[in-house]
Amino acid sequence: MTNYQVIIIGAGPAGIFAALTLIEAGVTDVAIFDQGKDITERERHVGRDLLMGWGGAGAFSDGKLTISSEVGGVLNEFLPGPELERLLLDADGIYCKFGAPDRMFGLSPEKAEDLARKARLAGMFYIPSRVRHIGTDNCYEVLKNMRRHLDGRLSVHVTSQVEKITTKDGRVTGISLADGREFGAEYVISAPGRSGADWMRKQAGQLHLSSATNAVDIGLRIETPAVLMENLTNEGYECKLVFHSPSFDDKVRTFCMNPYGEVVREEYGDIITVNGHSYAGHKTPNTNFALLVSSYFTHPFHEPIAYGQHIARLANMLGNGPIVQRLSDLLAGRRSTPSRISRCITHPTLSSATPGDLSFVLPYRFLKSILEMLEAMEGLTPDIFSHHTLLYGVEVKFYSNRIKLSPSLESEVQNLFVIGDGAGLTRGLLQASASGILAGRTILNMISNN
Ligand SMILES: Cc1cc2nc3c(=O)[nH]c(=O)nc-3n(C[C@H](O)[C@H](O)[C@H](O)COP(=O)(O)OP(=O)(O)OC[C@H]3O[C@@H](n4cnc5c(N)ncnc54)[C@H](O)[C@@H]3O)c2cc1C
Repeated sequence: MTNYQVIIIGAGPAGIFAALTLIEAGVTDVAIFDQGKDITERERHVGRDLLMGWGGAGAFSDGKLTISSEVGGVLNEFLPGPELERLLLDADGIYCKFGAPDRMFGLSPEKAEDLARKARLAGMFYIPSRVRHIGTDNCYEVLKNMRRHLDGRLSVHVTSQVEKITTKDGRVTGISLADGREFGAEYVISAPGRSGADWMRKQAGQLHLSSATNAVDIGLRIETPAVLMENLTNEGYECKLVFHSPSFDDKVRTFCMNPYGEVVREEYGDIITVNGHSYAGHKTPNTNFALLVSSYFTHPFHEPIAYGQHIARLANMLGNGPIVQRLSDLLAGRRSTPSRISRCITHPTLSSATPGDLSFVLPYRFLKSILEMLEAMEGLTPDIFSHHTLLYGVEVKFYSNRIKLSPSLESEVQNLFVIGDGAGLTRGLLQASASGILAGRTILNMISNN
């Protein structure tokens, strides 16, 4: 059996940043395992490649680094505000070192206050944040640069699916792979992302780790002519708004705004959902963003992931994949057809989406809450609640169960760390990367105290 000092499961941003932290500090015996391919072998449009392999879901992401302790995860429950801000800036600095662009988007304090005032008048909260936009094309290159930098300095095992985390007497001992091979380690960092959320939930069960059910976010991706949203996106790039729907008091929020971007399909096994991204070097005439409704379920139901999957499957069943609908058709109670879509001034960037009727898919509660927020957004972006706005469904964010962790992200099994999106801890690149740095630094301390 091969032994390493540290094994990392998952080569997404969380795993890569943990590796960088350990290796830059001189730890030489580190291995990283990923079920997907190496970055140079991955192709954006090939099913599993979008989310799995070196770079994880980050490789073809939009690459928005949002510098705010309020968004992208719950690390603010583990670290005091100023400490987390420093950690996020450290992570941002590493992205810059590997080629992220210098430009930072964000509103001046006066403009942010003005937008917050307008948002309040429209019944929403505005969360100010600074954003660095790497872009899908550059994001891939940045993660490739990290791979090149680490080449020969750690053992990289791609197309290697970890089946089990092994333990003895409450302490981690290593991993075993789906092909039966076993590897020993003093420390294991598990960073399996959202694509590994189900696997992590099962591991947590087998290892008797305490965990709490997380929310599921279900919604639609909205696409409009980019010009309509320029007042929000030109300087700020992304506008984070939070709304509580009058009918249900549900939290609805804007998510992942992509000025001049495109809507894409996202595959989770047999489920196809939608997402969005944009390129740094190529613009479409449209802007897209998601409106997501957060739901927590109470006793006796405790399977939010299964609930979200069920709704996504319904859209796939009716549309043979994602569905697109004009807002005017939805409000008129009729399906969209190819000819109705062709009369829309917003040309869909996801041309493979089937024109259909989203009211057959989303429960009333979700649809009503989304429409109420879209209407409220008229106060900030006039004409968004218009004839020509396109809705794509469904967008679902499956968050892993939240695993009980110490402030330094160690689980109830000694020397086992669980980080990133797969721990239910983070929801975006910067916090996932920061969680990797934090776990790496904790292990460095433990090694030096030994
Ligand atoms: C289209 C798209 C656009 C996005 N845009 C943005 C954005 O602009 N800004 C932002 O902040 N976030 C964005 N995100 C989200 C961001 O990519 C994720 O939050 C981030 O990648 C999470 O990092 P992670 O390391 O925790 O997990 P992941 O990046 O998901 O990586 C996990 C890795 O673990 C591997 N794995 C899982 N289980 C196993 C196993 N059992 N054995 C071996 N390997 C395993 C997977 O193959 C995967 O490579 C986007 C995501 C997508 C899909």
